[in-house]
This record gives sequence, structure tokens and C-alpha cells, in this order.
Amino acid sequence: MENYIKKNIASLKPSSTLAINEKVKKLLNTGKKVFNFGFGQSPFPIPEKIVSVLKDNAHKKDYLPMQGLPQLREAISKYLLKRTGITYEKENIIITPGSKEAMLLMHIAFDGDIILPAPSWVSYQPQAQIALNKVHWIETSIDNNWFPTSKQLEEKIKKINKKNIILIINSPNNPSGSICNNFGQIAEIAKKNNINILSDEIYADINFKKNYESISKFYPEGTFISGGLSKWCGAGGWRLGFFAVPKNQSNFLKALKTLASESYSTVNTPLQFAAVEAYRGDYSDYLNKSKNILKSVGNYVYNNLKSNKVLINPPQGAFYLMPEFLNSKFKTSNDMCEDILYKTGVALLPGSDFGFKPNKMLARLSYTDFNGEIFLKNISTTKSLDDEVIKKYAPNVVEGTNKLVEWSKTL
Ligand code: PMP
Ligand code: GLU
Repeated sequence: MENYIKKNIASLKPSSTLAINEKVKKLLNTGKKVFNFGFGQSPFPIPEKIVSVLKDNAHKKDYLPMQGLPQLREAISKYLLKRTGITYEKENIIITPGSKEAMLLMHIAFDGDIILPAPSWVSYQPQAQIALNKVHWIETSIDNNWFPTSKQLEEKIKKINKKNIILIINSPNNPSGSICNNFGQIAEIAKKNNINILSDEIYADINFKKNYESISKFYPEGTFISGGLSKWCGAGGWRLGFFAVPKNQSNFLKALKTLASESYSTVNTPLQFAAVEAYRGDYSDYLNKSKNILKSVGNYVYNNLKSNKVLINPPQGAFYLMPEFLNSKFKTSNDMCEDILYKTGVALLPGSDFGFKPNKMLARLSYTDFNGEIFLKNISTTKSLDDEVIKKYAPNVVEGTNKLVEWSKTL
């Protein structure tokens, strides 16, 4: 059989985040020293109490409702209310195997076009492509903290000139590590033009500002929210996510539920019970300490890497930085990242994986290459950590940063 793969699928590659993880593991197996700044995974252990609830429920074997365990949806509804000030009823929340799956189902169900800011997380565009939804990019700049301006959004909506549009916004942002400061203005344009927003809030609990603002606050009737356990509680491999829709769009949730029932059926049972504990319990101490460590490590990289050759914004959330290496030596950011990996052992992802033009010399740097369990055990303060502490508990991040600094001097 020839050409039996659909065109839109055949042209996809495996996701670059997962591919870099596997590439780094292969290099490590050959004995090469590698600094894994490529993959974005929480370095911290899952809180013990949550793990013990999972163990206690391991014997539960029956399928749960396709939309997910009602207690879990209730707990997420309360968590969202506390965090956003907006009520997403438990009837309008669905539990999914990771929020990534929820987004894929959203694309499959949605009949319309997608607006993505560049930079955007690596999987939004391929997922839209799988579902044959057309993507329109808005290229952002460091001056606006790597988020679209309301003017850019309005122009883009006019140009697309279609009724059904979803804008995907992710703050704190993967890959830039920035927080959006103009939610109010973006929401105003979205509302005026009656488009939907997907607020990807997977990093909402890893923000370094005191109060996290959700765009749903400004446009509750048009905002979907996705989130899950992967980042804030270190449970990426557990694969638990959720998707919430406003009350007036419960039809959309119905479509997601049908798609869920025809694909993964329902999320695994013991995990959903453990997730109830994660959303009901008070994990503020764990979170404050993890955020302090991430912020301090991020600031270490930022302070040491910035120079007249390296433009970079300070870390504001998640665990990423997005340096721009000013040079005309390389044709593409991918070539540049290959050179960096080959010469220094530092693995980065090129800006082109996040929607930027290949000739923009941007890269994503994930500063999570340290043992979070040991770091957390030894640090109880929420005061900013000094360089000596970072050197002791995040030696790979320090050494990798030094290698990058040396490399950037050759530009
Ligand atoms: N959104 C962003 C921005 C991410 O970085 C990730 C990381 N995997 C996801 C969504 C998906 O997370 P998950 O499927 O683990 O919930
Ligand atoms: N979100 C992580 C990253 O951007 C990895 C997991 C994934 O892409 O699904 O590196």
C-alpha cells in the first residue's frame, strides 16, 4: 500500500520536546556529558500524601464516568474559583489524560481557525494540523514580554474574517518564561469580536508574582481553561489534566465528552482519586519552596547569561528562559542549537519549534537539570537563594550556563 497516510499526518514529526528528551538520553548513554536544558519537566517529587492516596486506591478497578470522577471535578471547580474568581461548574469540567489530550479533542471538535502567538508551545500547531484547523500566527516581541498586543490581535481577527476563532494564550509561558501583562486588553478585543480564548494554565501555580491573574477574569463567558497535575505537583508522567468551559458553552463540553468516550474512555481510576487530594489539600508550602528554588535558579541563569550578545528577559514563571543569541553566523536557530549541543553539551530547543521564523536566533532553555528532591529537602526558606546554594544543588545548571556563556563569546 502506498501513500496510505493522510497528508496532514504524514508531514508531522514527533514532538520536538519528547524528541530532545530521547536524544539527550541516548547521548548520556554513550557517556557524553550533556546538560539537559531541552526538556521541560518539573524536577520536584510528587508530594508524599498524594502518592499515598494513589497507593491506597490502587485496588480500585472499575471504570469511572467518562467525564471523570465527580469529586475530582468538584475539587477542580473550587480550585478554579479560588484561583480565578470565576465559577466553572463541575458539570462543565472534563478530566483527561493530560491537558495535551484535552487540547487535541478541542481541536477535533472545533470548526474554525486558530490564532497562536509566536512563541507558542510546540504542540498547539501540530494538533491544529491533525484536526485540519487553519493556524494564524502573531509574532510577538520582547518589548511586549512575548505576548500579542491587542492591536495585533484585532488586526489578525479582521484579516481572518471568520466567525469561529480560538486564540490560545499560555501564561506563565512556555517557552518564554514570561507572564502576560495585558490580559484585560486582549480579553476586550476577544469579547468585542466574539472569539473564544483557550487559557492554557498548566503553569498557573508556578508563577513568581504574588497574585496570578487568569484571563477568564476579564472574559468568563468566552474562556476555556486547561490545566492539570503535570507541572505544579511534579506529576508529568501521571498524565492527569482537565478542561473547563463556561456555562453558556456546555454544548462544546458535550462534544469533548463524546470524543473522550470514543477514544480513551475515561482516565485511570486510582489516579483520579489521588488527584482529588492534590486539588483539595493545602500544598502551598511545597509550592512556595519549589517556586523559590525555580526562581532563584532561573535568576542565576539570567544574570550570568545576559550580555551584549545575549538578549533575555528575567524569569517570571514556569521553568523556561528564551535567550536570543545575536549573531549572523548561523542560518537557522536549529543549526545554532546543533552547534551548541555539539560544542558544549548543552541541549536547547530552537525558537523555530515555537513558531518563530527560522532565522530568528532564539532558543528555549529549561533550567530544570537538577535533583529537585535533594534541593527541596535541604532548603526550607522562601528567601532568594544565593549563588553558593545554587552551585551546591544545581551544579549542572551552573556548569551548563558557564559553557553557554563561553560559547556566546565566540559569536
Ligand atoms: N501546555 C504547555 C504550555 C505545556 O508546556 C505542556 C507540557 N507538557 C502542556 C500544555 C501539556 O501538559 P500535560 O499534557 O502534561 O497536562
Ligand atoms: N511540556 C514539556 C516541554 O515543553 C514536555 C512535555 C510535552 O511536550 O508533552 O518540554
